[in-house]
Amino acid sequence: MNKSPRISAFTEKWFMLRHFVQARWCLRFTRRDQLEAWQKKNLADYFKRILPRASYYANLKLGHPEQIPFMDKAKMMAEFAARNTANITKEEAQTLALQAEQSRDFSPILLHPTLGELTVGLSSGTSGHRGLFLVSREERLRWAGILLAKTLPTALLKQIIFFWRRPLSIAFFLRANSNLYNTLSSRRIDFGFYDLVQGVDAYTEKLNQQQPHALVAPPTVLKRLAELRMKGVLNIQPQHILSVAEVLEPDDKQLIEAAFARTPHQIYQATEGFLAYTCERGNLHLNEAQIYFEKDWLDETRFQPVITDFSRTTQIIARYKLNDILQIKKTPCACGRAETTIAAIEGRADQILQLPSLETGNAIPIFPDILRRAMMMVNPALDEYRIEQKNMQWTIDLPNHENQSEQQQSVREALTRLCTQFQVQLPQLSFGNWQPVPLGTKRRRIICEESIQCMP
Ligand SMILES: [Zn+2]
Repeated sequence: MNKSPRISAFTEKWFMLRHFVQARWCLRFTRRDQLEAWQKKNLADYFKRILPRASYYANLKLGHPEQIPFMDKAKMMAEFAARNTANITKEEAQTLALQAEQSRDFSPILLHPTLGELTVGLSSGTSGHRGLFLVSREERLRWAGILLAKTLPTALLKQIIFFWRRPLSIAFFLRANSNLYNTLSSRRIDFGFYDLVQGVDAYTEKLNQQQPHALVAPPTVLKRLAELRMKGVLNIQPQHILSVAEVLEPDDKQLIEAAFARTPHQIYQATEGFLAYTCERGNLHLNEAQIYFEKDWLDETRFQPVITDFSRTTQIIARYKLNDILQIKKTPCACGRAETTIAAIEGRADQILQLPSLETGNAIPIFPDILRRAMMMVNPALDEYRIEQKNMQWTIDLPNHENQSEQQQSVREALTRLCTQFQVQLPQLSFGNWQPVPLGTKRRRIICEESIQCMP
């Protein structure tokens, strides 16, 4: 399929459908040993056929993921051409992606002599840390098939299959569109793209007209839509809500749930691939049928994933250390899947704050999830906040409130309790005015700008 750039629409649909069926029914492992056998078989093929086609790996003798040198975003960007099998340079890819972004026309593609159409895109990382992705047409179709297979509830699947019904209508909010998402459009899927550059409120009327069955958006956008729904301005009743691109925090989840009477599901997806999805029982599972995960443990339940994506054939993601903190769920999920269950995606590694232990002076990590729970105890309740650590100075930005001093005092008490509980030194606290981040920029409520000077 790779070799012929011109493929009929029928072949494309067939290929996508095949991956949909495979991911939905055939690769649903209930036994861990079967899942591991599948991974082993695919990894062997990956080492033999795919890795040697990227010049960086061509002369390395590799037989197991643990023999692959580690990589991260910086290495991927620095050695872009050597780490893709199409030999596309970073400059080539970047020029095209930026052109698409500026013109807001996301259709351009690179034509490769043997691989055919390649889609290039920029990931929505924080400014200065944006990643580039490169996918072939075949990968794009496979991705679309798998994404639908993993995220579509049965009721909405029927919407596609029963041709006498209205086509499945999806409203998709993103900072930038991409060929990747347009792949999902078809006669049976009406795919509405909403460009975040124009904000959310501007789209109320269009959404009321579209009446989407499914809503896909970052949590900050879902939150705004939930507020508009509660005000009665927005009258949509989506049957399925998917949170993407940012961490879905518990307070946002509750608000979205209250407004739409639907529990939002999550897809955890980045430039690095399609990493995890919510099952029908509402739990997050790692996408281990396509990705081999190693776990770099931070404590008994938290880890940073190191991934080898054996489903990617153009851009190599091998032993790639992600900057994210995941929390494992120890009890198995009632859905019966053998794929690891995740209790939460907590955030990025630079969102772990640190304070010195009262006993030893050593740095004790304060994970974002712990801090979020402490902030949920504040009275009057907070809609938004931002906490920034610079050494022993914590700045807490709060929105304007009529009982501001009472709220500040409550934050102070909540953080004091937290420090007592963890037996760490209380930082110096100062308060500032909270400002909303522009839509489409990633929201970071907690950020460590400068860690504490650790005791040896
Ligand atoms: Zn499950």
